Formats: sequence, C-alpha cells, structure tokens
Amino acid sequence: MPSLKHANIHFNQQGTPVATDFDDIYFSNDGGLAETDYVFLQQNGLPARWQQHPATHFHIIETGFGTGANFLLSWQKFRQYRQQHAAAQCRHLYFSSFEKYPLSRSDLTLALQVHTELSEHCQLLLAQYPPAVAGCHRLTFDDGTVVLDLWLGDVNELLPQLPVQNQADAFYLDGFAPGKNPQMWQPQLFSQMARLSCAQTTVATFTCAGLVKRGLQDNGFAIKKVKGFGRKREMLTANFSPPTDNAVAASGTEHVEAAEKVAIVGGGIASLCLALQLIAKGIATELICADAEVAQGASHNLQGAVYPNLHPELTQASLLHCQAFYFARHFYQQLATKGMVFAMQWCGVLHLATTPALALRQQKLVDYANWPAALVYPVNATEASQLAGVELAQGGIFLPQAGWLSPQQFCQAALVQLQQSALFNAKFSCRVTGLSAAASQAKEQSQWSVQYLDCEQASQTHRYSCVVLASGANITDFSQSQHLPVNRVRGQVSHISCASMQALNTVLCHKGYITPALDGLHAVGATFDRNATEAYVAAADNQENLALVNHQLLQPAWFSMAQVHGARAAFRATVPDHLPLLGKTGRQQGLYVLGGLGARGILLAPLLAETLACEIAGQPQPMANVVRQAIAADRFNKPVATV
Ligand code: SAM
Repeated sequence: MPSLKHANIHFNQQGTPVATDFDDIYFSNDGGLAETDYVFLQQNGLPARWQQHPATHFHIIETGFGTGANFLLSWQKFRQYRQQHAAAQCRHLYFSSFEKYPLSRSDLTLALQVHTELSEHCQLLLAQYPPAVAGCHRLTFDDGTVVLDLWLGDVNELLPQLPVQNQADAFYLDGFAPGKNPQMWQPQLFSQMARLSCAQTTVATFTCAGLVKRGLQDNGFAIKKVKGFGRKREMLTANFSPPTDNAVAASGTEHVEAAEKVAIVGGGIASLCLALQLIAKGIATELICADAEVAQGASHNLQGAVYPNLHPELTQASLLHCQAFYFARHFYQQLATKGMVFAMQWCGVLHLATTPALALRQQKLVDYANWPAALVYPVNATEASQLAGVELAQGGIFLPQAGWLSPQQFCQAALVQLQQSALFNAKFSCRVTGLSAAASQAKEQSQWSVQYLDCEQASQTHRYSCVVLASGANITDFSQSQHLPVNRVRGQVSHISCASMQALNTVLCHKGYITPALDGLHAVGATFDRNATEAYVAAADNQENLALVNHQLLQPAWFSMAQVHGARAAFRATVPDHLPLLGKTGRQQGLYVLGGLGARGILLAPLLAETLACEIAGQPQPMANVVRQAIAADRFNKPVATV
C-alpha cells in the first residue's frame, strides 16, 4: 500500500508525545534537547568530528524519525558549525531517517511546540513534511547544505534498499525500547548497519539491551558502555572495526571519489536540472549543446502539466512518479524563491473520466490504491466544474497539489542562474561527434574524450572525468548508447486563445490536456506520431488536438470559439517499458545516461538529476535500489558472453 498508517499518539502530563501502541515516549520527559544532544550527538563525537571530516559530506543514519527532534538538533548544530568553520572541508550534512508510523502533520505540529529553541527549524521542517506515502522523500534545507532523506516504511525492509554509496558516518540507533518494539531490533538491522559502514563509522544508542550489544558485536562493531544521560546509568556506543579476516570486513566500503569535471551533452530540462544539481555539489560542469540555445527539443513547450501518473496497483512506476512529483514541486518552488523567474502554477490537475475504461481505472485507484487524499481524491461533474471554473460534463479525480510549468522558461532561467557560477560553462552550437574512454592511471578514474564540431565547424576534443548523455531524442547518437531502445515520438501541442475559457483555472486531462492560459494562450495537446522523421508543425495536428477535446469533453460550449495561434512540435524520447533511463551505460566507468523521459521531463528530471548528481559526487542517493534498478540504463546492456 502506498499510504502508511499514521502513528497513534497522545501527550502525557509533562506534555511529551507518547506512542499509544508502544507505550513509549518519543523524547525525554523534560522536553529539553539535552538528552538528545548527549546520547546521539556527543556520543558520536559531534559536532567536533565535522571539523576534521575529510569528505565534503557527513552522513547520519537514524532508526525512527518520530518527531524529528534528533534531526532538528543535528541540523541546528551543523548550521552553527558551518558558520564557525566556513573553510572546513565538510560542507553538507545528509541525514537519513526511517519511519514506519509517521506522525500526522497536525500531531507533529503539536509535538514540536515544546522545542521553542528550534522553532525556525521546526517551521521549515513542517513546511516540507511529506504525506505518509511509502518510499524516500528527500527534503533540502539551508540552500541544500542539509539534506533529510525521510524513508517511510519499515527500517528492516528499507535498509537493504539503500545503495552501498549511502554508507553512514554515524548511526543514531533510536526506536522504541527493544522490550516494547522487538519487531524493529532484528538481526538484519545490525547486518545492514555493517553493510553501510566504513572504518570511521560510529554508533550511539540509548539502550544497553543484550540483543543490541550482541547484534552489534556479531556484525563487526566494537561496543563500549558509557555513562547514560542524567540519572540514567548507562548507554552504548560502538565503532565499526571488523577483524580484517572476517567476511563482515568486506561489507564496509570507503567513500567514492567525486568526479572532477563533468560534460553534459544536451540542452533541455534534464541537462539543466543535472547541471544545477552538480554545481550545487561543487562539481565543475560543462554543457555541450548542439542547438544555439537551450530548450530546442521537447523542452521547447510553453507549458506542460506536472502530475504523477498514479496506478491502482502499487507499481514501481507509480511510486517513482509520486516521489518525483513531491521532489520536483519543492525543487521548482525553492528555485523560484531564490529568484529564478519562470511561469508555473500549482493550480491542481483534473483527470476527467471521459471513457468507461478511464472511469473504471479511476474507480479502482480510489477504491484500492489508498493514495492520500492530499494527493488525489474523486470528484463528480458538479465539483469538477467548480474546481475548473468551466462547465464540465464528467467527473473524475483531482490532484490538488499538481499544476503546470513552462519548461522553456525554466531552462532559460536555469541557464542564467548557472552562468553565475565559476564552475559552469556552456558551449552552444557544438555537435558532439564521438566519445572515447581512456583510463587515467593517475586518478584511477576513467577520463572521457569528447569530440565535437564547434560553432565554426572546427573539430575539437576535450577531456572530462565523466560524461552524461542527456540529449533527449538524440541520446542514441553514439556508439556507446545506440543499443538503447529509445523511440522518437513526434508530438504537437497547439496554442489557442478563447475568451470563454478565461475562467479555466486547473489543468484538464482527458486523453490529451488543456492548460490554464499563459499570456493569453492555452496549451492543448498533444499528438503522438511514431512515424515522423522530422519534428514539423502540421495544421492537421492542430485540428486533431481540437477535435479530441470536443470528442472527449462532449463539445463543451466554452471551447466552441477556440482559435489556434500557433503550435510547437518536437520528438519525445520514449522507452518501450515506459520507464526512464538513468545511470551507467555500457561497462566503462564514467559514462552515464539521463533520458527516456517521454512527455514527463518536467516531473522526472529534478529527482533523476539529483540521484545521478549524487552518484557522480559520491553522496547518498535518494532512491531505493529496487526503483533504481527498474530505471537503470544498463537494464538494456547485452549480457556478457560466457565461454
Ligand atoms: N528519533 C525520534 C525523535 O527525534 O523524535 C524519536 C524516535 S521514537 C523513540 C521511535 C520511532 O521509531 C517511532 O517514531 C516509531 O514509529 C519508529 N519505529 C518503530 N519501529 C519501526 C520500524 N520497524 N521501522 C521504522 N521505524 C520504526
């Protein structure tokens, strides 16, 4: 089920939140954070360790997010550390926390009221607190210097889903007491901790229960009993130090080296999102674009709807869409707050039940799928008409947090933003003609040579530590990527004006879609043409788009005066299994693909770009292994021939 059960809580006489089902408190009864500070931060050597930490990021893994008190205090201390040690190497705090019974927003709001010293942090957390949908929710704070990965679900099911690159520098082993919550303190908890540990990893936990001591020791942790907080007698700390001849030793891995300079081949929304995320992680990035400007392919559209494609069954695709949707919404909103100017509107998206098959599918989605109402709920024709501001003959489902965005404006604004960074460079009218790998002995990192024809048709070659192909429908232009099953599907969107549609204030989806107006024009789309070899604009396609609205929406009066003012056509890059392509392609290190986004670039690009940027930067990735494998570009590699 995508939706998880919320925690059932009450407050005791001291005002401390108590989990009714576990009969245990969330944090110390004195309401203060001194115990949290002592048990989890100080006993993991924090904040002092940050000053000497050799990597650019520090990663804390916590079992049991609860009210987020441990996270909030760690964030506050990290912010103070950054202010006091601006030149120190460690610049990012990653905090991954697992929660099977998330507090509802209203309970969390109440529970956090006691932490008056953290009120700013509490408000910022509440503003991003996700609905109780299973999976990883990445929230970013303080301009991306603090990243919270809130993994909703059972920690014992989710820890194996963390990529090995997400190894921890410190564990906060929280969770209700083992006697009250034995289900969490399973042997696999400790073996997974070992899998995600390296030589410097430390652990702190409030409990000294025998099963915790044994679990840690059996998996290569050297434990130490130390004085507990206040009147508490003892607690445990541990270091990961497996005997070298022990099989456990092999499970700990060292930090992955970050790439030094990345080339992105492309110039659409995927390329620009990736460039933004790489630059934010301090990695030099060069965009190599065949066109004279950004957003000349599928990102050329004036408007595109942004909503997750939800299924009645719990598919990887639905969960990916849902996770990508929340991430994208927040990503775009944060960039707009920071001054990037592009049109978007979170006005809601109405999916109309225009055919019996669609009505049945929506019914199943509402009856069985258990998506939270904050994400999607059913509406009848009257309610739909009120929401949309125009008369509709059909009801359907409404996604109140969804909306539309201008991908073209976004790409243009992103370029302006990127050009303010000394780490960024863009080459336009440069067509990449070939790629070749050369192993660099000095760095043990593959170096890639990129050959291209520059704007004066002169042949050039440049070297990068890695290359990302993000060129939409042209992604298969290279010998290293030509095996990818990418289809080029021509799509045309019509731009119409219509006085009687001015009141339209949600996106309407049927078999196609209609957006509210941007500068007086509505986008009406889109055609699907699998045979075209050129992305031409055709008058017949405008007629097809208009006819589809009339057919699906039963000749709405408000559409009768629609006039076409123009159109855009482009190739979308689609993959037969309808999932995108992300990550390594081929067997050589340092060559990646970010593509196959179909008509879903606005939705998918931010999360996929963040995931790939983390992989390239050697930082924790916000995606479960199972989702990552479903979209891995190398799922289409030919098997290695065995003799
Ligand atoms: N660290 C929290 C804080 O700062 O508020 C307090 C954590 S509270 C003592 C323990 C948390 O562990 C609860 O929120 C509970 O729902 C969660 N939990 C219990 N069993 C779990 C499991 N199997 N997987 C994930 N979370 C679990």
